[in-house]
Formats: sequence, structure tokens, C-alpha cells
Amino acid sequence: MPRTPYIAANWKMHKTVAEAAEFVDALLPKIAATQSDVVICPPFTALSAVVERRYGTAVKVAAQNMHDADSGAFTGEVSAPMLVELDVEAVVLGHSERRRHFGETDEALARKVPAALAAGLEPILCVGESEEARDAEQTEAVLERQLVADLTDVDGAAVGGVVIAYEPIWAIGTGRTATPDQAQEACAFIRDVLRERSAPADEVRILYGGSVKPANAAELLGRPDIDGALVGGAGLDPAEFAEIVKAAG
Ligand code: PEP
Repeated sequence: MPRTPYIAANWKMHKTVAEAAEFVDALLPKIAATQSDVVICPPFTALSAVVERRYGTAVKVAAQNMHDADSGAFTGEVSAPMLVELDVEAVVLGHSERRRHFGETDEALARKVPAALAAGLEPILCVGESEEARDAEQTEAVLERQLVADLTDVDGAAVGGVVIAYEPIWAIGTGRTATPDQAQEACAFIRDVLRERSAPADEVRILYGGSVKPANAAELLGRPDIDGALVGGAGLDPAEFAEIVKAAG
């Protein structure tokens, strides 16, 4: 079974409710013919606005983070059942900005990934190496360590419901894209690690993220183990994002 392409726009801390609504209204007619999974990841405050506008379309909505507990004394946090109540379908977990700026650990992710799955949310688990790790030829070691730690409490079969985003930190928001060969090599390695853990590795969508633009999307998405893209900057503009969606088919 071929894997359905998966193209996600991570808006980070961008867009008010009004701006989010404007984006969706501009995007939908441009991507009406797509066969891909198209996912928008707004900030919490704009989730409902995007959910309401995408009803009846193929667009899915993802949050950018969640707590692993269903409820509790965790000021400022949001839980998986709260997202499900809004008809959100997915959640980005372990983005490098959360790891770097907010102390997101592999231990926390090992709780969050199964909590998301248990609530019926599709986790988009981000992994990726720093520039120093790549220069020291530690890319595979970092990816394996993150995957094994973050998926430790997800049994092999359930890994089929997780989307993995390979995001080399040095390529995020820098304009420096991994070459298609580098991205393919890392995504193929991730699939091998999943296969070794008895996961249905051929079903898992593995995305590349890091300065994906309309100009480089088709070449990246043409590689056999790159099933989609997690798009930051270019995902803020409906015309640019639509071009990336079209590149996926
Ligand atoms: C991201 O935020 O996950 C990302 C890949 O950003 P950009 O496309 O801007 O590099």
C-alpha cells in the first residue's frame, strides 16, 4: 500500500484568530484537488477557528503541544482530551524549539506519545540532530536515541499510528535545507530503526522538515522514504503552502 503524502504547516506562535481564518479561506480553494493529508498546526487560540472552517474538507488540525495527563494542577498546560473535544485530530510533539526553549525531555515525550494515541490524537513526533552532532557524525546515534526513548511505551503495532518528522535542527528556519540525499538517508534510517522495533515501518509516514519551500519540495518529496513535509515559514503563506501541497500530488 503506498503511503498517503502528509503535508503539515506548523504556525508556531503566529496568527491571530482573524489571520488564521483568512489563511484557511485562501488555502482551501487552492488545494481542493489534493489527494494528500493536509494538516494545519495553529497556536491553541486559533484551533477552533481552523477546525470550524475545515469541516467538510480534507484538512486536519493539529495542536503544537500537549500535557500527558488528562487533567490536573499544571498551570498553562492543555491535555489531549481538551484537544479532542475541539475536534483536533493530531498533535506535534518534541519539536526542537520545545526541546530547546521549554525543556521538553525524552522522558516527557515517552509519556506524551502514548497519551496522545490513547486519546485518539495522531502524534507527529519530531526528531533531529544539531549541527554539532551532524559534524561529529552522530546523526544516526541521535535519531536512534530519540526514537527509542520517545516510543519506549508504544508497542510495535501502535507505532503505525505515529507520524515521524525528521527535522535537522540546523535546517529549521535557517534557509539551509538538508539535501534530498541527506534527508532521504535520515528518513530511511528512521524507518530501519522502527522496523527493528517490530513496528509496521512501511506504514509509518516519515516527514522531512527544515526550510521546505515551493522550490525544493518536489525534489525532497520525490525520495522514496520522504512521505511528506513539516513546513514552518512557508506554511504561513497560503499560496506558498498550497504549492508545497501540490508538489506532493
Ligand atoms: C519547523 O518549524 O518545523 C520548520 C521546519 O520550520 P522552517 O520550515 O521554517 O524551517
